[in-house]
Amino acid sequence: MRTRERDRTWELSQDLLAVANDQGRFESANPAWEAVLGWSRQELMAMPFRELVHPDDLEATEAELARLARGERTRGFENRYRAKDGSYRWLSWTAVPDGGLNYSAARDITEQKERAAELETAREQLRQSQKLEAVGQLTGGLAHDFNNLLAAIGGSLELMRRRGLEGRQADLERYIGVAHGAVKRAAALTHRLLAFSRRQTLEPKSVNLNRLVSGMEDLLRRTMGPAIALETVAAVGLWNVHADPSQLENALLNLCINARDAMPEGGTLVVETANRWVDARSAPGRDLPAGQYVSLTVSDNGVGMSPEVVARAFDPFFTTKPIGMGTGLGLSMIYGFAKQSGGQVRIYSEVGKGTSVSIYLPRHDRKEERADEAEQVETAPRADRGDTVLVVDDEASLRMLIVEVMQGLGYATLEAGDGADALRILESNQRIDLLLTDVGLPGGMNGRQVADAARTLRAGLKVLFITGYAENAVLSHGHLAPGMHVMTKPFEMDALAKRVKTLIESR
Ligand code: ADP
Ligand code: MG
Repeated sequence: MRTRERDRTWELSQDLLAVANDQGRFESANPAWEAVLGWSRQELMAMPFRELVHPDDLEATEAELARLARGERTRGFENRYRAKDGSYRWLSWTAVPDGGLNYSAARDITEQKERAAELETAREQLRQSQKLEAVGQLTGGLAHDFNNLLAAIGGSLELMRRRGLEGRQADLERYIGVAHGAVKRAAALTHRLLAFSRRQTLEPKSVNLNRLVSGMEDLLRRTMGPAIALETVAAVGLWNVHADPSQLENALLNLCINARDAMPEGGTLVVETANRWVDARSAPGRDLPAGQYVSLTVSDNGVGMSPEVVARAFDPFFTTKPIGMGTGLGLSMIYGFAKQSGGQVRIYSEVGKGTSVSIYLPRHDRKEERADEAEQVETAPRADRGDTVLVVDDEASLRMLIVEVMQGLGYATLEAGDGADALRILESNQRIDLLLTDVGLPGGMNGRQVADAARTLRAGLKVLFITGYAENAVLSHGHLAPGMHVMTKPFEMDALAKRVKTLIESR
């Protein structure tokens, strides 16, 4: 009787029940397997499990089997199994070892997984649009700032021309310095903004908040406008945190925009980092486990928030701002991010006095993982004899500049203003060590196509693309063939020179 009941359960269960040996090979399997995966019982039992498990899950599966072999149970282990039609199904496993056999029940969780993935995609889109919205709020300030930088450049050029006409050489160097400085700042600003608005994959890393804040400082200062003074207070010996840097930057930016909006007449914005101990006594009040945290606090002396507003501030879509000014998503996303990173957000505010918002993130005991710093440029290196660079750019002034720099370094140069011109030169038997080409070119051929044609004519020719941000897609988003490289505009001529030299030397 007992056995019959068990048999019926076995036959009827929607879960995938099986008995397997310690090698993972099935000794018996219930009909649910065939219903879910399409393999008949015989097929299933004839196949080593390695052929069924998704290659990416194999290692984890082996490890799980090893645990079972040591007498431990499996609970909630997930992997993908190949169905007969070639697709994969996600299975969630419960298993116990007994007498050299593993008794297991697996549940098909493929749909759950898909829904979770869809949700994550939707969240990601929301994050991205929220970020772009924040960037949008900045551009007004930025445009103003760029105008200032352009004015500095234009003014310097104007003065240089006048002094030049008057034959006064003495001041030229100074004006060049001013213009150069402005160009550098503008370039740094665009780089920063583009890096910020780019869609990045979420990747928690070990981050030093002080460095993150100082990296954003220029952008923040320049977008807050002249009426708002920005102060940063960086704690000495600040611990690291484990979080996604682009979300952190986004959070910081959103807090600063909120602060700016709260100070229409101007005021002071303070960005402060600190190490924090949350002890067992204060932990419940802060809704955090006791432990070590790092806080990032943005304070303003603006209009402040009433207790009712504070109570609702984290609600999605709660905003007190007019349409077009606020979406009510800033704080709710910051809250979600902090929670997800094991931290918390606190608001302290008094009407008429100001507001402080602190993000707490748990201390992380790892060294900071830093992205490659921008290439440091020393004095530009000089060329070897006869090395020849073909410069393709439709912008005559930029082409002239590059050619001059290259010649100044001792390279021989060839010039082309479009793809057709470039091809004619490439077809000749001129020596060419490097093709340096703009990506956006007139006349039906872009730089990428010129490079591909060049490679057919001269196998292995080195290529350096110079590109504006928008043209990245043409370069298949940075996935380039070996020997092809990219430099993003704007750049300094010294940096270009160094790049060219390194490329030509890497034979
Ligand atoms: P939004 O800025 O789009 O309105 P947020 O989620 O960033 O959305 O903020 C929600 C609300 O919280 C704001 O509309 C505002 O009323 C209030 N708030 C947020 N930060 C501040 C601040 N620094 N000072 C005063 N009020 C604030
Ligand atoms: Mg906001």
